[in-house]
Amino acid sequence: MNISILGSTGSIGTQALEVVDDLKGIKDITVLAITGNSNVELLEAQARRYKPQIVVCADENKYSDLKVRLADTNTLVLCGQEGLNRAATLDECDMVLSSIVGFAGLVPTMKAIEAGKDIALANKETLVTAGSLFMDAVKKYGVRLLPVDSEHSAIFQSLHGGKRAELRKILLTASGGPFFGKSRDELKNITKEQALKHPNWTMGAKITIDSATLMNKGLEVIEAKWLFDVDFDDIEVLVHRESIIHSMVEFCDRSVIAQMGLPSMKHPIQYAFTYPERLFSPDESVDFAELSRLTFAKPDEDVFCCLALAKEAGKMGGIMPTVLNAANEVAVSAFLHDKIGFLEIGEYVGEVLRKYKNKLNFTLEDIIEVDRSVRMEHKI
Ligand code: NAD
Ligand code: MG
Repeated sequence: MNISILGSTGSIGTQALEVVDDLKGIKDITVLAITGNSNVELLEAQARRYKPQIVVCADENKYSDLKVRLADTNTLVLCGQEGLNRAATLDECDMVLSSIVGFAGLVPTMKAIEAGKDIALANKETLVTAGSLFMDAVKKYGVRLLPVDSEHSAIFQSLHGGKRAELRKILLTASGGPFFGKSRDELKNITKEQALKHPNWTMGAKITIDSATLMNKGLEVIEAKWLFDVDFDDIEVLVHRESIIHSMVEFCDRSVIAQMGLPSMKHPIQYAFTYPERLFSPDESVDFAELSRLTFAKPDEDVFCCLALAKEAGKMGGIMPTVLNAANEVAVSAFLHDKIGFLEIGEYVGEVLRKYKNKLNFTLEDIIEVDRSVRMEHKI
């Protein structure tokens, strides 16, 4: 199998390359293209090790540096949006791993679908902002869409336990993040160092903050709606602190099927690469006796208002999830740059949502314009 990895320098991208290594001799995967934003040191190291046809730095200012670094290799060095689109559409490529963070992943992922590539999808912002266009394109171009987000991989796997028409609801699990159980008062003076410490997962900075505010779970509710074609009311968010059950589905006979494993993104990445087969993994097994108990609770949507805002924007549909997503990207970046406090993330997202009038029918260009307008007109 030949793959392109969009976002190879990130948390998902680097783990995907580890999966490529783990599968060597079991299922050989050739990496045709890798892309990063500005981390040229890592891009160079990855290019030397995996010898892709092309390597792309999205940041155009880093292009000449990367080009010089790889001058002695046969790898073609590209940059910017054009480079990303090229990486997403290479002729010999079978599957594209979409693991760029945020809205920046949308266009190259759509290009990959239009070029007939199967998609392993980590970038949830793509489905949040352009869900209907994305799913229509998946159908139109007949590509396979394999979820990489651990919850959605779990739902996908659990759905094998019954027929689609027999599905009653999805139980989407959430770790609850580092601040589960805290009051709004206790969250007032949270620092970015505290918010960046996730109890169970090591991830990129943006998704780690989203996990602390529960916006991540809100985005995942919208992601699940599009991936599995379910109503918002049939998706229940359940806090499960241990992150062993990665999500569950309930069928009409009230039977619940769960997918479990130790928290490692290498599992869903590997399953997307090997589906419909299951192949050997060198990782550890769950020791249930050692764990002894699994716990569950309802999320507190008053304290973690981002979850409620995302559900609301998702139900409104149209351009509102794009407004939500863009406002959240702006607010998370401002929080990471010490410009706003932790609780202001949700307050800002709520304010920006109230400023936009919904538009139910939209094109990809409309979505790009809405995203741009939020970033330009509501700068922090
Ligand atoms: P990350 O920040 O670690 O990596 C992001 C990647 O995108 C890097 O390669 C970076 O260079 C690239 N990138 C950033 N901005 C870019 C831009 N403007 N243009 C082009 N490339 C750009 O993020 P991550 O944690 O690996 O997350 C990637 C995606 O996967 C996100 O959408 C996230 O929600 C999703 N996801 C991540 C995890 C996880 O465990 N990390 C789990 C589930 C879903
Ligand atoms: Mg997830």
